[in-house]
Amino acid sequence: MLTEPAVRLNEMADRIGSSVQVEAGVLSIDLSAVIANYRFVQMKAPAARIGAVVKADAYGLGARTIAPALAGAGCRDFFVAHLAEALELVSGLPESARLYVLNGLAPGMEGLCAQAGIFPVLNTLEQARHWQRQAAEIGQKLPAVLQLDTGMSRLGLGVNDLETLLRQPGFLDWVDLRVVMSHLACADMPDAPANADQAKRFAEMAIRVPGAQRSLANSAAAMGMSDHAGDLVRSGLVLYGIDPLPGPTKGLRPAIALSARVIQIRTVPAGVGVGYDHDYVTPSPRRLATLSVGYADGWPRALGGKGAVWLNGVSLPLVGRVSMDTCTADVTEISAESIEPGDMVELIGQHQSVSDLATLLDTAPHAVLTGLGKRFERRFTGQAQ
Ligand SMILES: *Cc1c(COP(=O)(O)O)cnc(C)c1O
Repeated sequence: MLTEPAVRLNEMADRIGSSVQVEAGVLSIDLSAVIANYRFVQMKAPAARIGAVVKADAYGLGARTIAPALAGAGCRDFFVAHLAEALELVSGLPESARLYVLNGLAPGMEGLCAQAGIFPVLNTLEQARHWQRQAAEIGQKLPAVLQLDTGMSRLGLGVNDLETLLRQPGFLDWVDLRVVMSHLACADMPDAPANADQAKRFAEMAIRVPGAQRSLANSAAAMGMSDHAGDLVRSGLVLYGIDPLPGPTKGLRPAIALSARVIQIRTVPAGVGVGYDHDYVTPSPRRLATLSVGYADGWPRALGGKGAVWLNGVSLPLVGRVSMDTCTADVTEISAESIEPGDMVELIGQHQSVSDLATLLDTAPHAVLTGLGKRFERRFTGQAQ
């Protein structure tokens, strides 16, 4: 989020025709790649409708821009986690678009949700009853998605709750169950037996809700197990160009790049401590660059001593701890003339993907991406058509 003075500075920079980098760095998002990836998922699951998961501000990339761009490419189904996220997006999407709230509704939010025409995912008997009551109150049948727990023990109704709900007087008169959904616990491991177990349980439960469309697959399942794609895919990661499987998946287009600025460069002799706690001590004379990115930007502190950044195709190892607003790269390997303060180095891009970082950190790519903070300027490129 830009402060007022920063906004004015950017406007000033625009007027004089130069670009002043006022943020920690630049997170650029190629909208034509996002759209190409949307079409790529469609090709992988030709019988299904491809929905876009744009929760958490489209994984931190900017849902207010990405969701309308995808709508322009024909996407009509958008998943978010919270009602507040849906309300943010509703005005930017065409009338025919559907917004689904994955976490369902907190009690008392039903009126607002119905009024805005947003579809809640009903995860519990209680959520389902509240939605039925809302419909009866306004005298209008309301659409919803019903989530079934097929073996993740996270959200949704089990077999007994489903039977209870279907027997509940008036429920199907007031609630139009458009979609039944479930989520796979092990989709990123296509060979795990749990996938077939969950798919089987899903089929057995979904048949109890005739007329509802079926939604089981996230990105990994759509790419790795397209026979489980069902009627409606919920794809997040893959739209943003990140391979949900060990990969590499041919045909997927990288969509994001992240860079940060060099603030200062110094040459130090051997035996000098670098950064907090002198976690790193130079083994020989080194040239070091301090970069304007730290853990408060979502550049993980755990990268200290094991990550790298890139410049001109050369890997520059991170040394010492990652600080809140800075980190230090060893730039000894590149000539002194080829780097200076103000240069931008690559954190994510051609040489280092979000998945590479996730592997290095033993975490999920989703966690790396959603961690990237508000201090980066989001710069959209490519044609949204
Ligand atoms: C976040 C989420 C998705 C999207 O997952 P990706 O791995 O990003 O494709 C799909 N379904 C549910 C229920 C989710 O919570």
